[in-house]
This record gives sequence, structure tokens and C-alpha cells, in this order.
Amino acid sequence: MRVLIVEDEPRLAQALKEGLENEHYGVKVAATGEEGFFLVHAETFDLMILDLMLPGCDGLEALTALRRRGLTTPVLIVSARDTLEDRIRGLDAGADDYLIKPFAFPELLARLRALIRRGRADEILRFKAADLEMDLVTRKVTRGGQPLDLTAREFELLVYLLRHQDQIVSREMLAQDVWREVRRATPLDNVIDVHIARLRKKVDGTADLKLIHTLRGVGFMLSEQAP
Ligand code: CA
Repeated sequence: MRVLIVEDEPRLAQALKEGLENEHYGVKVAATGEEGFFLVHAETFDLMILDLMLPGCDGLEALTALRRRGLTTPVLIVSARDTLEDRIRGLDAGADDYLIKPFAFPELLARLRALIRRGRADEILRFKAADLEMDLVTRKVTRGGQPLDLTAREFELLVYLLRHQDQIVSREMLAQDVWREVRRATPLDNVIDVHIARLRKKVDGTADLKLIHTLRGVGFMLSEQAP
């Protein structure tokens, strides 16, 4: 799950980034509306947290413009503007929710989870392979009932492998869909291999049944059966 934070207050932006990364979100921060505008077109995000009072740019106007251009990413406004009119204007401009500053971080997390549930009502939110279980809403991963502590990247990698269970996943697919880097001078193969090795250690380390398999020269496969 990737989140774009558009927030010009460095301390708040950093606190949000760290808090969300602890919850296994992938996070990018834009300090200006312009940068946010650029990033939201250049990359794919599942959620956007938008401050309204930004240098040289009104967050509300930016959001209106983004929606007009067809942006469908769920947007949560976080703003110190706290009147009823402000909230109505925000929602009318295309926000999906509105949180007033200052706010408690657990509430922000709960609002984000609600947006994810709403956005993904028709998608699978739980995955299972043997005794490996993953819940995309609570972001909990367990193997044999024991919680696994994954980094944001490992989490995304595992979601991808579980979505493609029993299918071959090539390094090119991972570079494009998990790392989202299509145009690179050097291939990501080594980086991918390192992450797969770490993920495998966490997922399969102590288990008798191995789930993550390497197919030499082809890629990887998550399967209850050895390919
Ligand atoms: Ca601000």
C-alpha cells in the first residue's frame, strides 16, 4: 500500500512518514503542491494525504484540478481549517475524508483503513497459502499463527506473490509492479534477489513446508507445492 503525503510542515511530514512506515505503508512525501501534483502523475499511489495550506498553492484548488483530470486515488485531507464550511468545501472538491489538525495518529490510521476498505470493496482483502495468512486491512501477516515482521517492501512483495499464487513471477514483473521502476540503466535483479532472500527467511525460515520457490533463470513462485 503506497501513500503520498503532501505536507509542507517538515516535522509533521516526517512524523507521518515514520508512523506509516512502521505500519508497513510505502510512503513518499511532497513538500509543495507542485511536487505532489508531479508525483501523483509519475507514480501510482493507493492513498493521498493532503494538507490544504501549502506554499504557493491551495490544496483545495490542486485537488479540484486533479479530480478534473480523472485522478481516482482516495484522498484524505488533513487541515487546521476546522469549520463546517471548510469540511464541506474539501469533500466537494473531491476529498474522500477530512481530518482536522491536530489529530491523533491512531485516528489517521483508522481513517486510512476505512478508505482502503471502501476503495477495495470488490477486491480480495485476505490471502492464504497453507498456514501463511495475510490481511490487507489490518496489515497483519502470520505464519502458523505467529506474526511476521515485514518491511514495507517485503509486505508489498508478499502481496504480489500471493496475488499470483501458483504462477511464475519474473524479475521483470517485480521491477515493474512492485518497485515500479521501468526505465532504469541497471537491472534491479540483485536488489530483488536480496529482498526475496530476506522475505523467504522470514516466511519459510522455520517452517517445514517451503512456500517461496526460485525457478532458475525464470523467476519465483509462491506455492504450497514445489514447482
Ligand atoms: Ca501547511
